Amino acid sequence: MLFYRALRVLLPALGLVSMATRATAQADPALEHARKLLRSTPLVDGHNDLPWTIRENKAAPRDVGRYDLRGTVTGQTDLARLKAGMVGAQFWSVYIPGEIRDSGFARVQLEQIDIARRLIAAYPDRFAPALVADDIKREFKRGRLASFMGMEGGHAIENSLGALRAYYALGVRYMTLTHNVTLDWADAALDSARHGGLTEFCREVVREMNRLGMLVDLSHVSPATMSDALDVAEAPVIFSHSSARALVDHKRNVPDSILARLGKNGGVVMVTFVPDFVSQEVADWAAKYDSLDKQLIASVSDTTERRRQLTEWSTVHPRPRATLAQVADHIEHVRKVAGVDHVGIGSDFDGIENVPVGLEDVSTFPALFAELIRRGWSDADLKKLAGDNLQRVLRAAEATAARLQRERTPSTRTIEELDGASRTTS
Ligand SMILES: [Zn+2]
Repeated sequence: MLFYRALRVLLPALGLVSMATRATAQADPALEHARKLLRSTPLVDGHNDLPWTIRENKAAPRDVGRYDLRGTVTGQTDLARLKAGMVGAQFWSVYIPGEIRDSGFARVQLEQIDIARRLIAAYPDRFAPALVADDIKREFKRGRLASFMGMEGGHAIENSLGALRAYYALGVRYMTLTHNVTLDWADAALDSARHGGLTEFCREVVREMNRLGMLVDLSHVSPATMSDALDVAEAPVIFSHSSARALVDHKRNVPDSILARLGKNGGVVMVTFVPDFVSQEVADWAAKYDSLDKQLIASVSDTTERRRQLTEWSTVHPRPRATLAQVADHIEHVRKVAGVDHVGIGSDFDGIENVPVGLEDVSTFPALFAELIRRGWSDADLKKLAGDNLQRVLRAAEATAARLQRERTPSTRTIEELDGASRTTS
């Protein structure tokens, strides 16, 4: 006791108490500021691949109950971390690969929608199914996460506008036109350009999405597809998880020429945390790794030997890490070129194995806002970034859909009619 009393006398003299008090009471003023902001403004994340993680869970594939978000999970998302990350609304990706060969795409798509719907229903105290912009604020006030579904890849509609409408009816509120594989009607960023943009059928897909009120997502498509889609779109578009190509020259990122058009369209680029898109160093490393992999596939038939050589290379050349500050750079670049009304956040958690330093899982969002606060962002701009922009986009899409539904009936056009039978390969 005496010892502590002596300390209390001694420490102020040394100027240490005030420092210690500041360190505990205000560990990080910017972080406190960020948390305060996210308590009043719902943070809307544009992309989280948890439904695919559940499908692929080795212990119990597709079993929503066994992947218990109340406990410790293997992935980047659970209830405790969503709370710490102050996530206010989520677009759960119902991603399906474009490389499926053993069945039609629609079966897998329906299974993923089923997983997402069971996931949302499994935690009624924390998640609420969401279909319209108004659901976000209402559920936020109730302390529940407004849970939307976003489809990743137009291959899921199997060239059918009827299937597109059925997905909308099941609750899907955005569709990424392609994933990594070029479709019969749209070019993917990471695949060959077969169409130089959109075919006539793709224009009809975009028009029908606008009529339904399903957001057109241009992440994953080629710049020509982005450009053509912006020409046709009657409602604001989104990029659910992409970053800026001017900062990192990766095909998945959005070029400045497209960013510059978002003001007129009204859309939002939801900046992603995928390290390859965030850091040029990581992108270059990944390109080298991929080319070595391809080289080995062509020259070494023994898969064990191939893996050994890849591991050896990675040991000599360790994978660099992207950082939270670099993600903030992308956000600032999109704000600079597209405008503050056209930037949002689309993490891609549970869709990435590697993560930026500082953005390891869904609990880390406030740290990103703290970084922007330190860079001088105003509360008004931070609110737009957090989710006000995305809510505006949803409202505009809903208003456009209401108008278009008065003007035209559901489209019954087919890809054969619009693009000619020769253009389809599947
Ligand atoms: Zn993706």
